[in-house]
Amino acid sequence: MDKDSPDKSRRMVIGGMAGGLLAGAMAPAMAQNAGGGGGGGGGAGGAAAPATLQNPLNEYPRPPFPEQQQPWPGLASKMNPLPDHGETSYRGSGRLRGRRALITGGDSGIGRAAAIAYAREGADVAINYLPAEEPDAQDVAKLIRAEGRKAVLIPGDIKDENFCKRLVEQAARELGGLDILVNNAARQVSQDSILDITTAQFDETFKTNVYAMFWITKAAIPLMKPGATIINTSSVNAYDPGQNIIDYAATKGAIMIFTKGLAKQLADKGIRVNAVAPGPFWTPLQVTGGQPAKKLPAFGKETPMGRPGQPVELAGVYVLLASNESSYATGQVYGETGGHGGP
Ligand code: NAD
Ligand code: MG
Repeated sequence: MDKDSPDKSRRMVIGGMAGGLLAGAMAPAMAQNAGGGGGGGGGAGGAAAPATLQNPLNEYPRPPFPEQQQPWPGLASKMNPLPDHGETSYRGSGRLRGRRALITGGDSGIGRAAAIAYAREGADVAINYLPAEEPDAQDVAKLIRAEGRKAVLIPGDIKDENFCKRLVEQAARELGGLDILVNNAARQVSQDSILDITTAQFDETFKTNVYAMFWITKAAIPLMKPGATIINTSSVNAYDPGQNIIDYAATKGAIMIFTKGLAKQLADKGIRVNAVAPGPFWTPLQVTGGQPAKKLPAFGKETPMGRPGQPVELAGVYVLLASNESSYATGQVYGETGGHGGP
């Protein structure tokens, strides 16, 4: 009872403040000692500084970028600068050892970053992509196999419900089960006016981004055991839609709310469902009609960070949401936006 007494809490707060003030008062003295050159002390100097502290502003490419355009769906290997999916930098620590994951759009961009990270964390990984993306998919397969993990490549069009069912069945069959599903593939076609969005485009965007997620998830749930996780890729556009991608933004809003509802429905099965909401990331989606070509040189400049994200910067979020470490997180949306919008 004493614990809850206002007096005691006030004492604790005051005590905490005093500690804070004390530390504040000591800081300059320590700095003086460190700078005094008299040897000893020096705790505030270089020796104690974290070796890995990096300035996020300078770590990755900043605009302006060269003008470029590829026919959809494009290849990561043809982008300039090349996107960083963590090929040389992501280090695993066994957080997903023995897990079996299916990632749609795992050939390039954000899906590839998740695929590389999952393999380095010890998972076997199946990826889906379009046949035109085979070279990117082969690059990912090599990276997964280099970790001694199994890579299963399943090309095909997820706008087809029957293919979606076959995709999940084949992935689970070849992996020996399914513990992680990442619904990540998407279509984004920029149009300045709603009058230029055809029914065919609207249909294609919703089929790829929303219907396929529905079909693939439906096929996957009966195969999943408690502890399994579903991760959907939403977007900052679910919260702050770009005016030139309103059909796409509407699908990302649908993905966000589908995630929250499904999480409630599956909680008692021990299956967690979360989403990721990226801001602007440097991926093929953007250079294949996702943004007008003239906007690409300044891509990401409008964010407080002043640059786009690189896919590797999301790898840790996809790992966290798939791993036991996030065991109480479900129905959540994780934003990574460079500082604008988001959940
Ligand atoms: P990406 O082009 O690398 O990945 C998208 C993938 O979708 C493609 O590689 C392709 O394999 C797949 N795909 C598209 N249509 C398909 C179809 N009919 N059948 C099978 N596969 C199909 O681009 P990305 O930016 O990494 O996109 C991944 C996810 O991230 C998407 O959901 C996208 O909406 C989301 N996102 C991207 C950004 C960004 O700025 N790049 C921002 C927010 C959200
Ligand atoms: Mg691709």
